[in-house]
Amino acid sequence: MQRRNTNQRQEVVEALEILGHSTSEELIEYLNKNDAKVSLATIYRNLNTLIEDGKVRKVKIGDLDVYETVKKRHFHFRCKKCGAIIDIDPQSIVVDQSSIKQFNGSIVQDYDMIFYGICSKCELEINKY
Ligand SMILES: [Zn+2]
Ligand SMILES: [Zn+2]
Repeated sequence: MQRRNTNQRQEVVEALEILGHSTSEELIEYLNKNDAKVSLATIYRNLNTLIEDGKVRKVKIGDLDVYETVKKRHFHFRCKKCGAIIDIDPQSIVVDQSSIKQFNGSIVQDYDMIFYGICSKCELEINKY
């Protein structure tokens, strides 16, 4: 039983590596296409264990919950047209860290940013016409 769970979790990690940011629905669709035949409950259980183990991260992008394997710190860009979620290297964004250490006496320990716009693929599509 233990071994089976480990294999399932490995499958979830591999699926996330291939798919990139995915919702639980996208994950289950992909896994079932590959014959894994797992239930949504199993996926959630595995995802929660993987999050606890620090292997997977849950990201809230607008009203969307997506999962991704844990990589180095980055921000997200969401295309308003096609919904694509793209990783953004924090180095490409200038943030004055010293200015966000506290707000009105509240201490900032971490922050996240989501950018919205039109991705390069959609931009090309628009410019074609
Ligand atoms: Zn797009
Ligand atoms: Zn990401």
